[in-house]
Amino acid sequence: MLKNKLYISTAIPYVNAKPHVGFALEIIQSDVIARYHRSRLKEDVFFLTGTDENSLKNVRAAKKEGIDVKELVDKNAEKFYQLKNTLNLSLNDFIRTTEERHIKGAQKLWLACKKDIYKKSYKGLYCVGCEEFYKKEKLEEGLCPEHKVRPESIEEENYFFKLSKYQDQLKDIIEKDKVRVIPETRKNEVLSFISQGLEDICISRSEERSHGWGIPVPDDSSQRIWVWYDALSNYINALGYGEDKPEFKEWWEKNDNKLHVIGKGILRFHAVYWPGILLSANVPLPNQVFVHGYLTVDGQKMSKSLGNLVDPFELVEKYGTDAVRYFLLREIPSTEDGDFTYEKFEARYNADLANGLGNLMSRIISLAGKINLKSGKIDYDQIKFRQEINNVEEKYNNSLKEFKFNEALTAIWELISFCDQYIEKDRLWEKKEGQENNIISLLYVLSNIASMLKPFLPETSKKIESQIKSGEVYKDKKWAWEFKAEGKTPPLFKRLD
Ligand SMILES: [Zn+2]
Repeated sequence: MLKNKLYISTAIPYVNAKPHVGFALEIIQSDVIARYHRSRLKEDVFFLTGTDENSLKNVRAAKKEGIDVKELVDKNAEKFYQLKNTLNLSLNDFIRTTEERHIKGAQKLWLACKKDIYKKSYKGLYCVGCEEFYKKEKLEEGLCPEHKVRPESIEEENYFFKLSKYQDQLKDIIEKDKVRVIPETRKNEVLSFISQGLEDICISRSEERSHGWGIPVPDDSSQRIWVWYDALSNYINALGYGEDKPEFKEWWEKNDNKLHVIGKGILRFHAVYWPGILLSANVPLPNQVFVHGYLTVDGQKMSKSLGNLVDPFELVEKYGTDAVRYFLLREIPSTEDGDFTYEKFEARYNADLANGLGNLMSRIISLAGKINLKSGKIDYDQIKFRQEINNVEEKYNNSLKEFKFNEALTAIWELISFCDQYIEKDRLWEKKEGQENNIISLLYVLSNIASMLKPFLPETSKKIESQIKSGEVYKDKKWAWEFKAEGKTPPLFKRLD
């Protein structure tokens, strides 16, 4: 049977600075989706991230540091790549927009859109932080609403893309969920943006303003491609669009499950500009765009100037990968803004991980040790709590279908409390008839908890499973277990003082 496929990408961050925990949130959310589709839905997954390196910001950041632009982007791209290990990401590819395969693809896409590209002289207000022109009325007290800086006035002859031509088509595509924007509030935002009237977008800048950095416009050495136009094409270039590779056909052209995960600040680029460009180039559209909110720190927007950037590497060093993954997925409502503080982090860690999950596992293993269970099989029908597990699984699957990671985790923790209560209520530590079956049933619940945790806390899930091996439950109606430790296990999470 042909397997279902999922193509999933994160936005590619600028590399003018080190990664912060806000991007960690996005890439961890994406990793959960990728792992869920692989481990639970048994699908083939292609999970992509990368770095956006052709921005003017890099030119400025390098100047500040007194180094070459290439040196700066190499250095910072490496740090983004290190997130793969630090956050335990199941990436299939990592694309840098300074790579040859990307440059080829971006230029090919430009040529594919040629009928919709024209040159004109233009004067506008440009925010380098956003890498885009702003209309006066979109500014807040003359400042960029995203960066709170005054945009620069720029006058030059540039290439434009006829986005206006696709206004009706784009409206239809978003309205009818041909590109489904999640959540609904963000979809409405896109529709309202389109209904204000789409204007053509400037998609190049002069060689001079680019300081020789960026991808050259094909057949015109006086211009470089606008960084967003080039960056968006990474999603297909990684699959070999530029070189007509079979992977592009397989994962993009013939696959109806293509998902972009992005932050709310760049919605327009992904739900309007990108589909517009693809329509022009006659390349299939993505199917879904999932939009997450922003992470604040102590109630404030994270920013370099406030000095409140939280470094994901330091967090992992201190608390471990799975604890960081857990906090971001559990505490932050996936489509809204959420707040990070060390107090909240440690409270969750102690309550949910050390006391909740960790404590339950050691309780169950120690109970099993007392009745001297080593290994064996049990008839599936004899296992209690099937209903509890089914209920939780249903909530878990429904939540994940809607990218509600916090709700999926809440469902798993309901099962954890259920077990704790059951142990108390039936006094499972006492010797009495039927106790063995009770404890085996708890082991079975624990193995289900581990399986559901797999996309979220891959290491922890593996640790639990190494204590109890689950067998061919669904095929021969038996569930097998095997103990490695005899009633003693190292704690999954050590309580923080
Ligand atoms: Zn800006």
